[in-house]
Amino acid sequence: MSIFIKDELTQLCGRDLSAASGTEIYHALLELIRRQSEKRAAAVTGRKLYYISAEFLIGKLLSNNLINLGLYDEVRSVLSEAGHSLGEIEEIEPEPSLGNGGLGRLAACFLDSLATLNLPGDGIGLRYHCGLFHQDFKNGLQNETPDLWLEPHSAAQATDTVFPVSLAGTTYSARLYTIPVTGYEGRTNTLNLFDLDTVDTAVIEDGISFDKTDIARNLTLFLYPDDSDDNGRLLRIYQQYFMVSAGAQLILKECEERGSNYHDLADYAAIQINDTHPSMVIPELIRLLEEKGIDFEEAVQIVTDTCAYTNHTILAEALEKWPIAFLEKVVPQLVPVIRKLDALARTRTEDPSTAIIDGQDLVHMAHMDIHFSHSTNGVAALHTEILKESELKNFYTLYPEKFNNKTNGITFRRWLMKCNPSLTKEIEELIGPGFRKDAAELEKLLAFTENEEVLTRLGEIKRQNKEALAQWLKQKQGISLQTNAMFSIQSKRLHEYKRQQLNLLFLIHQYLEIKAGHKPSTALVSIFGAKAAPAYVIAKDIIHSLLTLSEVISNDPDVSPWMQLVFVENYNVTAAERMIPACDLSEQISLASKEASGTGNMKFMLNGALTLGTMDGANVEISQAVGAENIYIFGQSSDQVIHRYAKGDYCAKDWYESDPNLKRAIDFLTGEEMLKYGHKEHLERLKNELIHKDWFQTLPDFNAYVVRKQQAMADYACNPSDWTRRALINIAKAGFFSSDRTIEEYNRDIWHLGE
Ligand SMILES: *Cc1c(COP(=O)(O)O)cnc(C)c1O
Repeated sequence: MSIFIKDELTQLCGRDLSAASGTEIYHALLELIRRQSEKRAAAVTGRKLYYISAEFLIGKLLSNNLINLGLYDEVRSVLSEAGHSLGEIEEIEPEPSLGNGGLGRLAACFLDSLATLNLPGDGIGLRYHCGLFHQDFKNGLQNETPDLWLEPHSAAQATDTVFPVSLAGTTYSARLYTIPVTGYEGRTNTLNLFDLDTVDTAVIEDGISFDKTDIARNLTLFLYPDDSDDNGRLLRIYQQYFMVSAGAQLILKECEERGSNYHDLADYAAIQINDTHPSMVIPELIRLLEEKGIDFEEAVQIVTDTCAYTNHTILAEALEKWPIAFLEKVVPQLVPVIRKLDALARTRTEDPSTAIIDGQDLVHMAHMDIHFSHSTNGVAALHTEILKESELKNFYTLYPEKFNNKTNGITFRRWLMKCNPSLTKEIEELIGPGFRKDAAELEKLLAFTENEEVLTRLGEIKRQNKEALAQWLKQKQGISLQTNAMFSIQSKRLHEYKRQQLNLLFLIHQYLEIKAGHKPSTALVSIFGAKAAPAYVIAKDIIHSLLTLSEVISNDPDVSPWMQLVFVENYNVTAAERMIPACDLSEQISLASKEASGTGNMKFMLNGALTLGTMDGANVEISQAVGAENIYIFGQSSDQVIHRYAKGDYCAKDWYESDPNLKRAIDFLTGEEMLKYGHKEHLERLKNELIHKDWFQTLPDFNAYVVRKQQAMADYACNPSDWTRRALINIAKAGFFSSDRTIEEYNRDIWHLGE
């Protein structure tokens, strides 16, 4: 095998490997992967899945593909014999910028699991040129620049397939690009991405601003273009329709080629609508089927049987509603279909809360999804219960049979085998290789919880991972991490509901306690990674406050031996792969009832961190799996939170005034220490927000958070071996959170692929 790999790589490079440059080797590896994955592209029989999503946060592909194709070890040794390291080659690869957060990462994990389980399932999305944005910090503030990942070349290959898409009366050509998705010892599926040939990054002005009306040149520049004005909102509709119209045409074409007469489309295709961005696929498919001569009523039935919808949030502001006038402008061809669907839905119920078009002429995308697909699922047990009992209660009453839960998962190929090779090797030595394909086998690790030698080795692996993270950060951001400390990590999008501000208030409290002479039980390194949406003012104020506090701490010799606050720039999959294996304490502190599932929580658990969290999203299931002694739970329950919202009498100021520690921490935001390094405007705005609004109830959970986190720090310091024992229990119990399990459930209950 090695000889074959060596020969093929040499031939692809066109010269001896030891003489080839890193870039030449990188290109040769891409071609090798392409050839090998093509060999695993199997024919499709029966039903095939199309997973439509605005985001696919796939991460770098090189190593993952080599692992999944079984080539990783050989390629590594062939390269090292020729004087190259695979790690360095990997640095050449730009991370594809096709997603933003958990929703897009979930889509990527699902594609990996589908191919691994040998299920036919392709992704459909857009080929963004600059992704969300590239983040760095200047002057204590988030600075946004285009993330030009397509240059100098990309994983996505252009094809000759184009589909016409009519936008505001003009016809554009949607070109199909493809990325092969290799399963672990499985089949190869495809990620299909659409783009316009005329899109041009030259229209970007300073930062990430551009002319939002120049559709031909801006359509696929950015994921989630700023929607704070009407042109931005229109652009989002342009993008969404472009994606689903081209996607629907691709689906119909493939099914027809496989023998469908369209009447039987549901026997050939299952379509999963990932959140509401692709919802227009429902009326678009109906429109296209009508063009093929199928009458409206039958088309509605076909589409309902084919489509299923995943709800990802209970935050009202995230459930998309578009003014019908906007749709009239961008997609006039769709509006008659949407009006007919609205009328049809009204024959099923008189409840106005379930209307597709409401009294203000807003089109509720989620409502269209629920009425005209056969399945609506939440993404964790608690989330689905909240959907059924409150947020979507009226829909649940109407269609109880449509509602189901599919607790999210993560692929262990990337989030264990790829990102934590030393832990993977240790696990394999203890329980054999079966866990690579059957995550439930991790439970065999429970036999080693009292084995001091194993615990010592696990502690050593964690220490090495901290050193590796420190080295990476040093090289990337010039920061020297203190590695002989407990590592707490909160990395996820920046949003008030995720409550990075609660962590901030703890760190201020801790700073003040140390200044007052109360030394903590352990030194604590607090690491953050998060992008804030460009127009989200308070989120950016939270980033600024954290960066400012970081300065205050590092410039204070009384405190800096005990605390370090580090903000990793441009949090993405590559950063996550470095950070997560180094973590001791996983911060999952959203306001209970607000985080639908979370998947970061699962990645940290799998890599041997203990969770400090609220009873929210999948934290609930994690706590059930590991038991109360192996997790740090605090704070209000979701019932309490929902009750408090319903009563509408939450007054942050009362909490601020009645708790001296809390008042002291909040006041510190605009105290002289912070003002020395930070900007008054930002610090004051956050302070006022906390005292006068605090929409996500940070203040009521402050005390419980401080107590629980200090408990975790004391446990970590006083009994390291017991800490590692509990980390091992977390790893052993992580099997349920494999996306292989999630995909098996989707297939069993919703898709029935290959049948
Ligand atoms: C897993 C992941 C997320 C999601 O994190 P949550 O804590 O579930 O919000 C976001 N971004 C990246 C890069 C990830 O890998």
